[in-house]
Amino acid sequence: MLRIVVLGAAAGGGVPQWNCGCRVCRQARNGNPELTSTQASIAFSRDGANWFLVNASPDLRQQLTATPQLHPAAGKLRHSPIAGVILTNGEIDAVAGLLSMREGSPFSIYAHGRVLAILATNSIFNVLGENNVARRPIEVNRPFEPTLRDGSPSGIEVLPFEVTGKGAWYLEGKPHPAGADGVGDTLGLRIADKTSGQYFCFVAACARVTDDLRARLRGAPLVLFDGTVWRDDELIAAGLGQKTGQSMGHLSMSGDHGAIESLAGLDIARKVFLHINNSNPAWLKGSDERKALERAGWQIPADGTEITL
Ligand SMILES: [Zn+2]
Repeated sequence: MLRIVVLGAAAGGGVPQWNCGCRVCRQARNGNPELTSTQASIAFSRDGANWFLVNASPDLRQQLTATPQLHPAAGKLRHSPIAGVILTNGEIDAVAGLLSMREGSPFSIYAHGRVLAILATNSIFNVLGENNVARRPIEVNRPFEPTLRDGSPSGIEVLPFEVTGKGAWYLEGKPHPAGADGVGDTLGLRIADKTSGQYFCFVAACARVTDDLRARLRGAPLVLFDGTVWRDDELIAAGLGQKTGQSMGHLSMSGDHGAIESLAGLDIARKVFLHINNSNPAWLKGSDERKALERAGWQIPADGTEITL
C-alpha cells in the first residue's frame, strides 16, 4: 500500500502570497480561507510509520505541524517519522524547507548531483551535518530504494526520469556549480510499492510533454502534475509580472500543448495538479477554468489531502 499526503499544492509564494493583491490572494485573505494553500510538497509512506518527502518547501515547518502523520511518535523525546527527502530540482520551493529540518534528527537527502552541488556550494546547508543527514546522489533512469533511518530497505522503488525544465532561477546567467550540462536539473519520479506494484508519478515542474513522458504516464494509477499557470501569459495579462509560464520552465494547464490536452486519453486513473501559482484562476471553485479542469478529470487538492493506492 502507498499513502500519499499532499502537504501543499501552491507554487512559489503560496496562496495568499505575502505581497500579492491578485483576485485569488485577495479572496484567500478575505472570507475564503479554504483557498489558502502552502507551497508544493508531498509525503509518502508504504507502512504508515516511515515517511519520505518529495521536496522540502519553504512552508515545511507549518506543513509538518499541520500533518499528524508526520508528528513524533508517542512517548519519544526526540523523533521524526521522516526517513528521507527526495529533491526533484534546486528551486527555492524545493530546497528551502531543508533548513527547517536542522534539529539533529537523522534522515537522508536524495538528489541529482547537480542539485547536490547547489547544496554543497551554499554553506547555509552545512547546518545539516553529515553525521545525521546523508546526501545521496540519484541518477536519471536508475531506480533506487530509499532506506529507513536504521538503514533497512523501505520496500519502495523510486525511478527518477528527466523532464523538460530549466535550472534554478537564482542561477540564471551565472555558472552552475556542476557545469553547463543541464540533464538532471528537473526530475520526475515514479514511486512504487515493491510488494503490491502500486505506483504513482510526480512531475511538479514540466515545460513540455514529450512522447517519452506520455509513455511513462500512460495507465498510471495516480499522476501529480505541474499546474503552475492556466495560460502561458497570465502573469503578464494580470499585470503581475513579465514572465511567461514557459520562461519559468512550466507548461500551462490549458491550450493545445497544455497539460490537460497533452495528458488526455492516457488512461490515468487519478490526475491531480500541484505547484499551482496564485495567478491561476483555476484556484477559484466555480470558475470556468476550474469547471473545465474538473470536466477533464483533474483535481486541485486541499493541503492535507491523503490518497491511498
Ligand atoms: Zn496573488
